[in-house]
Amino acid sequence: MAILVYIENTAGAFKKSGYEAVSYAKAIGDLTGQPVHALSIGKVDPVSLQHIGRYGVSKVVEVNTEQLHQFVNQAYAAVIAEVAKNIQATTIVLSNSFSGKGLAPRVAVKLDAALADGAITLPTIKGDTWEIKKSAFSGKAIATQELTAPVKVIALTPNTMEATEAQTTVEIETFQPSVSATDLSTIIKDIVQATDKIPLPEANIVVSAGRGLKGPENWRMIEELADVLGAATACSKPVSDAGWRPHEEHVGQTGLAVSPNLYIAIGISGAIQHLAGVSSSKTIVVINNDPEAPFFKVADYGIVGDAFDIVPKLIDAFKAY
Ligand code: FAD
Repeated sequence: MAILVYIENTAGAFKKSGYEAVSYAKAIGDLTGQPVHALSIGKVDPVSLQHIGRYGVSKVVEVNTEQLHQFVNQAYAAVIAEVAKNIQATTIVLSNSFSGKGLAPRVAVKLDAALADGAITLPTIKGDTWEIKKSAFSGKAIATQELTAPVKVIALTPNTMEATEAQTTVEIETFQPSVSATDLSTIIKDIVQATDKIPLPEANIVVSAGRGLKGPENWRMIEELADVLGAATACSKPVSDAGWRPHEEHVGQTGLAVSPNLYIAIGISGAIQHLAGVSSSKTIVVINNDPEAPFFKVADYGIVGDAFDIVPKLIDAFKAY
């Protein structure tokens, strides 16, 4: 019996959320006394494969079939389930990322397993019954999920677990899966990267701005602040609705939910629908010229003042640091 963790990759390297999933799987391994096997699907650089050993994985199963070089939901789910059966995995861990949200339920169905999606805690283990918490109602509540089936699939919310090194000797095994034609009936032919910016769901720091910025021409300073901090940029809904920023940057109830270590909100009022997507951020800094702005109620740090005065000063200060 073992724990299987599927590690997502992009452009041949494992994603940060993948390392977090491995550390989460290792922590479950420590609780249950089971070894952790990692699964890599697609073309991944051999150094990255070896590197996974530093995070407490005893074996890496590499599936490098050409048909699977691009992500295909059904086929990837079939491979994860097949490998899980082969190693008699009782726990399968994935990231609750865009692709993980599609994979986890498929894998759970294939393995007749219990599914904990959006996990934000390690399980409390009482024999075969595990309890895992997830964020519910757009971050306004915490739900406790009880998993009673012998096999469990857990999709971990990115940025809830720190990736920590735990040296082990890793063995890499190549595996040829038996993917059916049906699983490959829809394939992605090509993906062209549109931007080299840090992806929003993966970012440690997010610099976000709202209607207080007055117009798209003023985003230069937001991008500059993000560059200095190594952050991703985000925005409120009206900003993307007005076409000031691309829709992929819209966070909130109807946009992306993010949980970075630091969320800097500039000229955003803090409407409940916006907070729904950002309230699980570890630290929130608000910059707003209205001291009554609702965002201050949930802020860890607040600056009351004009963004056009404060942001350039912050950029200078961070550059000088
Ligand atoms: P505003 O409410 O106009 O606030 C601008 C803020 O900037 C104000 O607080 C003001 O004091 C401040 N400001 C102005 N000038 C300056 C300055 N010079 N310096 C510093 N601060 C300044 N919104 C989302 O963001 N995400 C969602 O997913 C979302 N989903 C929604 C779903 C539904 C069904 C509905 C009804 C609404 C949704 N909204 C969503 C919209 C939401 O209710 C708010 O209208 C929106 O978040 C407000 O955006 P804002 O804070 O950028 O703009």
